[in-house]
Amino acid sequence: DAYLAAIDQANPLLNAYVAVTHDKARNMAKASDARIAKGEGKALEGIPLGIKDLFATEGVHTQACSHVLDGFRPRYESTVTSNLWADGAVMLGKLNMDEFAMGSSNETSYYGPVINPWRRSRVQTTVKPTFHDGSAGFIKPGGVEENRSYDNMQLVPGGSSGGSAAAVSAFLCAGATATDTGGSIRQPAAFTGTVGIKPTYGRVSRWGVVAFASSLDQAGPIARDVRDAAILLKSMASVDPKDTTSVDRPVPDYEAALGRPIKGMKVGIPKEYRVDGMPQEIEALWQQGIAWLKEAGAEIVDISLPHTKYALPAYYIVAPAEASSNLARYDGVRYGLRVPGKDIVDMYEKTRAAGFGQEVKRRIMIGTYVLSAGYYDAYYLQAQKVRTLIKKDFEDVFAAGVDVILTPATPSAAFGVADQDMAADPVKMYLNDVFTVTVNMAGLPGISVPAGLDSHGLPLGLQLIGRPFDEETLFQTAHVIE
Ligand code: GLN
Repeated sequence: DAYLAAIDQANPLLNAYVAVTHDKARNMAKASDARIAKGEGKALEGIPLGIKDLFATEGVHTQACSHVLDGFRPRYESTVTSNLWADGAVMLGKLNMDEFAMGSSNETSYYGPVINPWRRSRVQTTVKPTFHDGSAGFIKPGGVEENRSYDNMQLVPGGSSGGSAAAVSAFLCAGATATDTGGSIRQPAAFTGTVGIKPTYGRVSRWGVVAFASSLDQAGPIARDVRDAAILLKSMASVDPKDTTSVDRPVPDYEAALGRPIKGMKVGIPKEYRVDGMPQEIEALWQQGIAWLKEAGAEIVDISLPHTKYALPAYYIVAPAEASSNLARYDGVRYGLRVPGKDIVDMYEKTRAAGFGQEVKRRIMIGTYVLSAGYYDAYYLQAQKVRTLIKKDFEDVFAAGVDVILTPATPSAAFGVADQDMAADPVKMYLNDVFTVTVNMAGLPGISVPAGLDSHGLPLGLQLIGRPFDEETLFQTAHVIE
């Protein structure tokens, strides 16, 4: 009830939820209470979660925040959410996101932008994520913050899992599901002072998750701290016969990794991540992270991932290519919106023209172009080769004994809603993903952990990248930083 009341109060300001499932939440919570009373409580009994609108939830709004899926209510539940409910978690509702998870600011959603609960302040602050109501200071469980002056600029929460990150940050759920194709868990986590982990490709089933780029998509949690993220991932992860890319390996007790000493651990610092124009504050944050890990006994080594600079261009070929194929199914026949036409082809065209937003159309066009006869070899095939080289860069570094790689999570803190530069040039928006896409291209696990604040008091995140299926080392190391 407390979470539902908080949502009802704050959602008009933040727009983090696109559907709130009041009755379902109360029924699930009552069932939890009954199991607890009988001594049958499970790992997540009664924990209220928000679910990204990309996950199929039976009988409940599932539209990937697209107009083309209007009215779609799946008859099935995604494997990830089934796993969470089987462990006793409670669903609060569906969370806003960029349309079909395409974006880095949550502004491509059919349901409008999500507003970051963080505001820029004039005094450097040391406060932890909390919810600002836009008028008279902070609303914070357990007390009111000291007076500080805030500017009025509304900031994005990042994307595509912007609703998930904003909701967790503003106490509108205890944790959230999210997905990451090129950074969509880690970048919004960094922009909102929350923890987000993209597990190894195959660790979590993609069944019932609306597909964007199937070879890159992976689901994971956004949570308030590393421990919560570890507990949630344990529940979300499973092998699944319905997703043949899910991997049959036991799911470790990730929480047990927290507090393990990192003495002697080899932490790689890749020189290629020192990109041109990186703000001094990001560089300083990175140095601070290095210092913390050193202090905890880790060995810091300089490494090289020579193909890093090709990751972003290659990603923006591979991801749209797969998306153009995956999105072919939205034709007005099988799901959601149908705009009548004079014949079936006319109906397809009218439905897709009305149903998809501008960014999604741009991706479909790029994807169709790079896959077309005559261009396939020059673009798609070339990008796949680059992808192999990127993967090999990481393999070489891990084979040389590096246990974990430390980088900034994003090249900046959260930026303003309707940023003129980014609106004028979509490539500027794509540059947000410069530190995160390599991880998806290589299928590796990556975590973003809050590590400090910029001079406006906005959160910044550090990223840790690990060996395949070594999420434990990420949790262990992130816990030292948080
Ligand atoms: N920002 C990237 C994109 O727009 C990544 C999105 C994601 O990870 N879903 O493609």
